Amino acid sequence: RRFCQLLPKIELHAHLNGCIRTSTFRQLLSSTADQLRLDALDKEFQSGDTHARMANVFEKFALLRSCVTNLDEIRRITRETLEDFIADHIMYVELRTRPRSFDNGAIPMSSYVEAILETMKQYKNQICSRLILSIDRTQTVDQAMETLKLAERYRPDVVGLDLSGDPNVKSFERFLPVFNLAKQMNLPTTIHIGELPDAECLRENDLILDFKPSRLGHFNFRTKEQEQRVIKEQIPLEICPTSNLLTMKHPLAICTDDSGLMDCRLSSEIFDLVQSFRITKEEICELMLQTCRTTAAIALKSHPQYARHITPIDPNR
Ligand code: 5GP
Repeated sequence: RRFCQLLPKIELHAHLNGCIRTSTFRQLLSSTADQLRLDALDKEFQSGDTHARMANVFEKFALLRSCVTNLDEIRRITRETLEDFIADHIMYVELRTRPRSFDNGAIPMSSYVEAILETMKQYKNQICSRLILSIDRTQTVDQAMETLKLAERYRPDVVGLDLSGDPNVKSFERFLPVFNLAKQMNLPTTIHIGELPDAECLRENDLILDFKPSRLGHFNFRTKEQEQRVIKEQIPLEICPTSNLLTMKHPLAICTDDSGLMDCRLSSEIFDLVQSFRITKEEICELMLQTCRTTAAIALKSHPQYARHITPIDPNR
């Protein structure tokens, strides 16, 4: 466990608001009714099938959204998330979030993005952090296009575009023009895929794979053909083990997803994998180096001008 904690790590799949500390979440909930609702949701999470658990987590997200209402709270969540990741020896993190406005639009989405980026800069000597902007599956295409424009405006601090949100809403096809545009702009993309065990989800997996995103999140439910395709095309997978299975010999990034809400740390995720799959220390080190190489390769594709700054990794360090 100590080895997993001290290991220098890369976190590529972390939803900013999902990383909120439980104590902060509870402080931000203003009414007793909301506190009781959270208690009930925490209890319910232990039981039920995949659909029920997913619905539970999304109800928590809705509760969370209703209580994060200003930029100071977003700065606090960013600060605490970075401090938690620094304490867990994470060297590089890509946080992702869906931009939002506050006060009925008086505080625009650009201020939300800037508040996060400014907070990240305050920690730049302790952790290298970048931002991915998320499109939510329930949004309109116009809203998604606005997110893409924001992503373009804040490059290179923003390093990609994500599709996430309630996986019951199968909307990738609707957003395809936006993601195609991102590709034309050379902006890396990462798509949540295969999160539910249903036929519609498997159908959407094909559409997503046809698009060829830079990375995929989760990919828990898939056909054998889809699995083979991802292996053949070497599309990196962001694996969040608290809810996922492990697929080895493939570009992988072990991630936490929602470390606050799901109460996990990257070091404990890695430790669980070590125990469950009897992975050696050498294999874990190789996995971390492989994640590092994969991330660098995607970044270089989008910003080839930085190639001369890259120093080859010394695996003995
Ligand atoms: P935010 O974008 O507000 O910073 O992060 C929380 C949001 O990320 C949630 O409201 C949800 O839309 C998305 N999210 C977090 N975890 C998951 C997940 O496991 N699957 C999917 N599809 N979306 C998620």
